[in-house]
Amino acid sequence: MTRSEVAPHGELPARRVRRQLLAWYEERGRALPWRQPRREVTTNHPDPYAILVSEAMLQQTQVATVVQYFRRFMARFPTLESLAQADEQDVLQLWQGLGYYRRARHLHAAARLVARQFGGSIPSDVKRLEQLPGVGRYTAGAVASIAFGKRAAILDGNVARVLARLLAVREPVDEPTTQARLWSHADALVPPARPGDFNQALMDLGAMVCTPRQPECRECPLHTECRAFKLGMANQLPVRGRRTKVQPAVHSVVALRHGDCYLFEQRPAKGLWSNMWQLPTLESPTESSEASLADWVRERFDLAPNALELRGEFRHRTTHRAIRFTLFEAPLDARPSLVRPGFLWRTLDDIKDLPLPNPQHRAIALLRDSSRQLRLPTD
Ligand code: SF4
Repeated sequence: MTRSEVAPHGELPARRVRRQLLAWYEERGRALPWRQPRREVTTNHPDPYAILVSEAMLQQTQVATVVQYFRRFMARFPTLESLAQADEQDVLQLWQGLGYYRRARHLHAAARLVARQFGGSIPSDVKRLEQLPGVGRYTAGAVASIAFGKRAAILDGNVARVLARLLAVREPVDEPTTQARLWSHADALVPPARPGDFNQALMDLGAMVCTPRQPECRECPLHTECRAFKLGMANQLPVRGRRTKVQPAVHSVVALRHGDCYLFEQRPAKGLWSNMWQLPTLESPTESSEASLADWVRERFDLAPNALELRGEFRHRTTHRAIRFTLFEAPLDARPSLVRPGFLWRTLDDIKDLPLPNPQHRAIALLRDSSRQLRLPTD
């Protein structure tokens, strides 16, 4: 088939695509803890609360990682009501390791809003779902279709990739005009019957077959309809626009220690890792000298450490920042009387109740390693 024989855009044969994709899903769809067993998929809808939790966790995170967190979360907060009544610190604590903590805060706020304004029942239509914190058009479509059997489309990075290939879209998929066009194709494809199964089938196809690299076109139930496959350009699509610039930053962690106890501080209520806990950390665009770190400790905590001992460094990436973490340990002669809200002295074995961002866990692991090495007998 030559390129000129394949029309680049235009509608896909919706009925054929639905039939082929749903047949594949019945056989190959993933069994996930928030889904109904496959035999029951067409008759019962899953618990809307479970779908909302799973969708919040799945934003930016792989399914394999989400499964264990989902089970733990549902064991601790089995109902929307239990989540609505929970303390934010407990929610963040359970979310530790998943990252992107704003999702946890939004989910918690959404549960509270549903309990307060919707009588404890998650709304079933897209417009009202979109009123919930953290719920955009994609999540609203996923919840409405999967949990309530409403005909609503979904479009995230995964689905956009599949559609861009099926339609051989050569424009950058992250541009608003392309997004609008892909939404309209997703709308046209979603069937009135079994819309939730269809959307989950699209998600599974994107994750298992139409993967970002090396899509398995020969295994794909849609290869007879796929324009990118026919044109031999599956590997070149989708095209992306210019990426957001990532800013470099240096976070200097100063582990202030007296005996076995370390000082922990709570982060501000707004911004990155808000309200979580950490070892005192100075954030700056460039490296801080040890002298300036010692000055910062004196000013901020009114403490004068004996010395700052370098314990290690590592890198951590967020959506907008490439951060280099440096870790210093600073022993103190006397335990200071720093008893203010937002500060705690704790041993490293007594921090299970404190929600800590991932890089702080790494810093603490480094601290443990270095203290073990320092205790090793020398020959
Ligand atoms: Fe993706 Fe290949 Fe299937 Fe097309 S044929 S949808 S490129 S896996």
